[in-house]
Amino acid sequence: MAAATVVVADNGNARTEKSALIFLGTGCSSAVPNALCLIQPSDPPCPVCSQSLTLPPDQNPNYRCNTSLLIDYFGSEGKHKYILIDVGKTFREQVLRWFTCHKIPQVDSIILTHEHADAVLGLDDIRAVQPFSPTNDINPTPVYLTQDSMESIAVKFPYLVQKKLKPGQEVRRVTQLDWKNIESDLTKPFMASGLQFVPLPVMHGEDYVCLGFLFGERYKVAYISDVSRFLPSTENYISKDGGQQLDLLILDTLYKKASHNTHLCFPQTLDALKRIHPKRALLIGMTHEFDHHKDNEFLKDWSEREGIPVQLAHDGLRIPVDL
Ligand SMILES: [Zn+2]
Ligand SMILES: [Zn+2]
Repeated sequence: MAAATVVVADNGNARTEKSALIFLGTGCSSAVPNALCLIQPSDPPCPVCSQSLTLPPDQNPNYRCNTSLLIDYFGSEGKHKYILIDVGKTFREQVLRWFTCHKIPQVDSIILTHEHADAVLGLDDIRAVQPFSPTNDINPTPVYLTQDSMESIAVKFPYLVQKKLKPGQEVRRVTQLDWKNIESDLTKPFMASGLQFVPLPVMHGEDYVCLGFLFGERYKVAYISDVSRFLPSTENYISKDGGQQLDLLILDTLYKKASHNTHLCFPQTLDALKRIHPKRALLIGMTHEFDHHKDNEFLKDWSEREGIPVQLAHDGLRIPVDL
């Protein structure tokens, strides 16, 4: 077990050094604010998007980048390792907003849930958080992904996959990555920066398997950002009834009402929470239909009724955890 180190924080108070989850993004693929609400405002204007550009990031829980989680893992070596789940279209903005604010100096490993644009299109910008070398002479960052995701990324980013320069090809500085194959299989856990992850296959549309991940020895967290239907084996694996109650479930919810073919929406998300019954839940992936303060008031009542504390997460949220 890692010995807890007491350090003095910037404000002079002693704090216990431990791991933390940092929500880099909690929004849908088009992110919030919705551009159309700003360039073609309705009458009355969209209440969530219209205030989105006037408040500073740390005071605006209704500004949502693509879903992404950063695990600040304080492992047995007594060192912080920074594990990034997904690198979407808004990655650079997330670095500017939250790496600075939470003093994140680097990314040690990357895990991909799937290969959609809002999960991978920021891979080119990983270069910005890697050591500078004009000749690409640095240690590549490991990226854990399925074979299907690898094939798609090889088409989207051939220059990030290419191993050697072709004869006559100039050296250009690009993100250096070390691709590591993982399987869509509950029984095939893998290690990233010293932390074990169990892949949680879920349906993301009926034609597509996406991964969530279970991690944490002392505090069990499941992160499931893109799901329309749970496979029974996955649901059982993370359910209280299946014998493994989660301390925290971070779960997809896209629209407030109705349903969607590739994501859970609010009613289905709440139903899933009742079935899985974690000790606590935080929701991610929301569109501009969700108003952080208003909907968290509703969720406060729901939580009391159902005995499961659940809230909408927000970009920049940092939760200290003992993994
Ligand atoms: Zn809007
Ligand atoms: Zn997706």
